[in-house]
Amino acid sequence: MKNAVPVPLTAPIEPRPVVQAIARKMEIKLRANDHKSYQGTPAIVLFRKLMEEVAELYEAILWKSPEAIAEEAADVNNVATMIADVVGGLQYEAEEGAVVRETGRA
Ligand SMILES: [Mg+2]
Repeated sequence: MKNAVPVPLTAPIEPRPVVQAIARKMEIKLRANDHKSYQGTPAIVLFRKLMEEVAELYEAILWKSPEAIAEEAADVNNVATMIADVVGGLQYEAEEGAVVRETGRA
Protein backbone atom coordinates (compact mmCIF):
# COMPACT_ATOMS: atom_id res chain seq x y z
CA MET A 1 0.00 0.00 0.00
CA LYS A 2 1.53 3.29 -1.08
CA ASN A 3 1.40 6.36 1.14
CA ALA A 4 -0.91 4.66 3.63
CA VAL A 5 -1.77 6.89 6.56
CA PRO A 6 -1.02 5.07 9.83
CA VAL A 7 -4.14 4.60 11.93
CA PRO A 8 -3.75 4.43 15.73
CA LEU A 9 -4.74 0.99 17.03
CA THR A 10 -7.30 2.57 19.32
CA ALA A 11 -8.98 4.63 16.61
CA PRO A 12 -12.47 3.44 15.70
CA ILE A 13 -12.42 1.89 12.25
CA GLU A 14 -15.53 1.03 10.32
CA PRO A 15 -14.61 -1.94 8.15
CA ARG A 16 -15.47 -1.50 4.51
CA PRO A 17 -18.51 -3.45 3.26
CA VAL A 18 -16.52 -6.30 1.72
CA VAL A 19 -14.64 -6.81 5.00
CA GLN A 20 -17.93 -6.78 6.90
CA ALA A 21 -19.32 -9.38 4.51
CA ILE A 22 -16.44 -11.82 4.95
CA ALA A 23 -16.33 -11.11 8.70
CA ARG A 24 -19.97 -12.21 8.97
CA LYS A 25 -19.12 -15.50 7.28
CA MET A 26 -16.07 -15.89 9.51
CA GLU A 27 -18.10 -15.28 12.67
CA ILE A 28 -20.81 -17.76 11.68
CA LYS A 29 -18.15 -20.43 11.15
CA LEU A 30 -16.39 -19.59 14.41
CA ARG A 31 -19.67 -19.85 16.32
CA ALA A 32 -20.31 -23.26 14.82
CA ASN A 33 -16.93 -24.35 16.18
CA ASP A 34 -17.04 -22.59 19.56
CA HIS A 35 -16.67 -25.96 21.29
CA LYS A 36 -13.12 -26.14 19.92
CA SER A 37 -10.40 -23.78 21.10
CA TYR A 38 -7.32 -22.83 19.15
CA GLN A 39 -5.77 -20.97 22.08
CA GLY A 40 -2.47 -22.58 22.96
CA THR A 41 -2.14 -24.22 19.55
CA PRO A 42 1.35 -23.59 18.16
CA ALA A 43 1.37 -21.22 15.19
CA ILE A 44 3.14 -23.80 13.05
CA VAL A 45 0.32 -26.30 13.65
CA LEU A 46 -2.20 -23.65 12.64
CA PHE A 47 -0.07 -22.88 9.59
CA ARG A 48 -0.45 -26.47 8.41
CA LYS A 49 -4.21 -26.11 8.90
CA LEU A 50 -4.05 -22.88 6.88
CA MET A 51 -2.40 -24.75 4.00
CA GLU A 52 -5.22 -27.33 4.13
CA GLU A 53 -7.77 -24.54 3.97
CA VAL A 54 -5.90 -22.88 1.09
CA ALA A 55 -6.07 -26.19 -0.79
CA GLU A 56 -9.82 -26.34 -0.13
CA LEU A 57 -10.13 -22.79 -1.47
CA TYR A 58 -8.19 -23.82 -4.57
CA GLU A 59 -10.52 -26.76 -5.17
CA ALA A 60 -13.53 -24.50 -4.66
CA ILE A 61 -12.20 -22.00 -7.20
CA LEU A 62 -11.87 -24.81 -9.73
CA TRP A 63 -15.10 -26.65 -9.12
CA LYS A 64 -17.58 -24.86 -6.91
CA SER A 65 -20.01 -21.96 -6.79
CA PRO A 66 -19.09 -18.39 -5.85
CA GLU A 67 -20.88 -18.94 -2.54
CA ALA A 68 -18.84 -22.06 -1.79
CA ILE A 69 -15.65 -20.20 -2.72
CA ALA A 70 -16.59 -17.46 -0.25
CA GLU A 71 -17.13 -20.09 2.46
CA GLU A 72 -13.64 -21.46 1.89
CA ALA A 73 -12.20 -17.95 1.83
CA ALA A 74 -13.77 -17.39 5.26
CA ASP A 75 -12.02 -20.56 6.50
CA VAL A 76 -8.67 -19.28 5.23
CA ASN A 77 -9.30 -15.92 6.91
CA ASN A 78 -10.27 -17.58 10.18
CA VAL A 79 -7.17 -19.74 10.42
CA ALA A 80 -4.92 -16.83 9.43
CA THR A 81 -6.61 -14.79 12.17
CA MET A 82 -5.98 -17.60 14.68
CA ILE A 83 -2.27 -17.49 13.80
CA ALA A 84 -2.17 -13.72 14.32
CA ASP A 85 -3.93 -14.24 17.66
CA VAL A 86 -1.83 -17.07 19.13
CA VAL A 87 1.40 -15.20 18.41
CA GLY A 88 0.02 -12.18 20.28
CA GLY A 89 -0.12 -9.99 17.22
CA LEU A 90 -3.66 -8.71 17.70
CA GLN A 91 -4.88 -6.14 20.18
CA TYR A 92 -8.47 -6.46 21.31
CA GLU A 93 -10.58 -6.42 24.42
CA ALA A 94 -11.28 -9.89 25.77
CA GLU A 95 -14.88 -11.02 25.67
CA GLU A 96 -16.70 -10.88 28.97
CA GLY A 97 -15.86 -13.94 31.03
CA ALA A 98 -12.96 -14.89 28.80
CA VAL A 99 -9.55 -15.57 30.23
CA VAL A 100 -7.17 -12.79 29.28
CA ARG A 101 -4.16 -14.25 27.55
CA GLU A 102 -0.70 -12.86 28.04
CA THR A 103 0.89 -11.54 24.90
CA GLY A 104 3.71 -13.63 23.51
CA ARG A 105 4.69 -16.01 20.81
CA ALA A 106 3.02 -19.38 20.75
MG1 LIG B 1 -12.65 -25.25 4.54
